[in-house]
Amino acid sequence: MKRLNPDNCSVVIFHNQGEELQETLELLHKVFSDVIVKSRQDEVLAELDAQQAKDKRSTLLLIDAESCRMPSPDDCPDLLLTVVRLLMQNAIRNVVPIVCSSLDSPSFMVKCLEQGAADFVLKPLSQDVIKTLFLNVTRYQVKRIKEDSSAVETNKGQIWSKFKDRLKGVFLKEDRLSKLVADFYTPKPSVRRSSMASMLSDRKEYLKSQICSWDFLPLELDDKDLIQVVYMILDQVLCTFDQLDSLRVPSGDLYHFIFDICNSYHSANPYHNFRHAVDVLQAIYYFLCQIGALEPMCPEMGGKKEKVEHPLLQLLEPLDIFALLMASIGHDVGHPGVNNLFMVNTSTPLAILYNDRSVLESFHAMSFFHLLQQHCFSSLTDIRANPDYAIFRKIVVNSILATDMSMHDEYVQNIQEQAQRIKRQGIDLSDKAACEKDKILLCGALIKCADISNCARPFPLAKAWAKILAEEFFEQGDLEKELGMAVLPIHQRGKICLEDFQITFKKFVALKLFEAVSQVTSQMQFTVDAIYDNINQWEIMKTERASPLNHIQPAPDGTPARPRPGI
Ligand code: AMP
Ligand code: ZN
Repeated sequence: MKRLNPDNCSVVIFHNQGEELQETLELLHKVFSDVIVKSRQDEVLAELDAQQAKDKRSTLLLIDAESCRMPSPDDCPDLLLTVVRLLMQNAIRNVVPIVCSSLDSPSFMVKCLEQGAADFVLKPLSQDVIKTLFLNVTRYQVKRIKEDSSAVETNKGQIWSKFKDRLKGVFLKEDRLSKLVADFYTPKPSVRRSSMASMLSDRKEYLKSQICSWDFLPLELDDKDLIQVVYMILDQVLCTFDQLDSLRVPSGDLYHFIFDICNSYHSANPYHNFRHAVDVLQAIYYFLCQIGALEPMCPEMGGKKEKVEHPLLQLLEPLDIFALLMASIGHDVGHPGVNNLFMVNTSTPLAILYNDRSVLESFHAMSFFHLLQQHCFSSLTDIRANPDYAIFRKIVVNSILATDMSMHDEYVQNIQEQAQRIKRQGIDLSDKAACEKDKILLCGALIKCADISNCARPFPLAKAWAKILAEEFFEQGDLEKELGMAVLPIHQRGKICLEDFQITFKKFVALKLFEAVSQVTSQMQFTVDAIYDNINQWEIMKTERASPLNHIQPAPDGTPARPRPGI
């Protein structure tokens, strides 16, 4: 696993004194590849902005105290105060301020740290000090997380007491949320953690080749394999991007998180179980490799595509990619095996809680965020500790909500309009709000494709998934019948044949989506072709079933053939 190192940081120095910087710069260049000197404070702030726009590496800001004004004789450099204020407002991110001074007064040093400096170093900087400067990045992050998370508790004062009665229910204690989730599902461990250690490397190689293939066969994998697939995908992404440095976790913690996700899916559901979630995750991974956003883990699949063809794809940053992958593995967490309509028609507490709107998807998103809070990725769910909280949460929640099929047509229309607009006028990268909207829609489009990607898999697989889904629909129908409720034809056994069920869904639901997304990125065209092929195959099966020859042709062993049974 890659670790934080000096190459992951850039260095910005604020210095405007006559004294010679040459020697310090030479030493810094030996350790850091990116070292920039600025002599004005406004230039420093602009440079910090520019560093973040370039990528999300951390920036060590060396503030030369003698170059700054001190607001009062016993205060610290004004630039430090400005930068710390901007960091607290999340107006700048990933900046680690360090004060350098020749003033070796202990009280001044302490003051600087109290005011938010990550470190204080004496001038001239020695090689030894420079070599360990980058460690301040990790130290500073941990310090901020600790401080921020206790901020609300320690800041409770007079105003809080005025609001106390109104707010006590709003600030639900975490265990209240746990109880709420536990009422809906209680994970039953299906895989022992210790069993993962025994997985052979041949098996891992096989899984790797599966991950890189559109012919991915999760129906042949057991839970242990499926967990390993998730691990390999998440681990690859975390190790590929320097910007995700701070999210790298020990492998035991990552497995622990995936175990709990696996156990949060009901294995009794024929379709909406962990296998479907892994199938959706693999589909997203495959799409991201195809469009050039990810380097595939198998060289046979071909390296990362040279050019990102569509301007929209440039909007995807590493954290967005990670968020999208996380959303796919969590998008059906706790699915009860019945659909939204059932939840609404039986007036379940969840339907009441979410006002009948995207009931299951809202529940999946809430439960998944709760799971994140309990595990190694909890920093991603803390608005005070993580400057990227807002965008991560937006992508995860919006992507999961996008899988509500009742909004399908609206989504397809939005994707078509987006594709045409961008063809006409491109993307204005300076319009941050518009870019974020486009990015969220793109993530929604990709997860929607992945969610119904079974339609575009090679025919034997598409058929296997269709049968499994039909079985889940029938089980819901059986339950509705028992409860004396109305039952839709597709939920009734023997009412609609599998061919019609699939031809209708693929022609009138799936194709529209995949065609719209292929307008955005032509690398997705293979899915449209595959759906047309599958429709053809279903049509052939239907014709064969209807053919009178089917009824009269004897089987090879001489017994008369019978029409094939319905699904
Ligand atoms: P989700 O519940 O998140 O998996 O949403 C996807 C929904 O699309 C499923 O619940 C099904 O209702 C529908 N769906 C997916 N694949 C098919 C298929 N092959 N045939 C018919 N409906 C499908
Ligand atoms: Zn799904």
